[in-house]
Amino acid sequence: MDCLFCAIINGDIPSKKVYEDDKCYAFLDINPQAPVHCLIVPKVHIASLDEICPKCAETIAHILATIPKIAKDLSLGDGYRVVTNVGENGCQSVKHLHFHILGGKKLSESMA
Ligand code: AMP
Ligand code: ZN
Repeated sequence: MDCLFCAIINGDIPSKKVYEDDKCYAFLDINPQAPVHCLIVPKVHIASLDEICPKCAETIAHILATIPKIAKDLSLGDGYRVVTNVGENGCQSVKHLHFHILGGKKLSESMA
């Protein structure tokens, strides 16, 4: 399967690693939209939030539980935003589920 984030997880494409464990991988976004912009992805290929099944829900719960630890490591104690884009209208450009972690400044009150 030709997937950019699978290639990053496998180390075939370089990335700036922030965190890794057996279930997930986090790295800095190549085109940051905020002073801190990190992506966290499941190691297993899941196309988007639309593809979540009971079997992989545990992995997603693990990712959500890991995000605050990563935020702490990235000095986001004043707050941050977590976003996952889904599909065409959500402007999802990479079809491997990922959560954006954005912070390092007061973010826009507008989300859309
Ligand atoms: P989305 O538009 O929600 O699918 O987000 C995809 C994100 O992946 C964008 O914020 C891109 O800047 C980011 N991105 C694309 N290629 C790379 C890469 N090679 N390394 C790190 N981030 C990337
Ligand atoms: Zn993938």
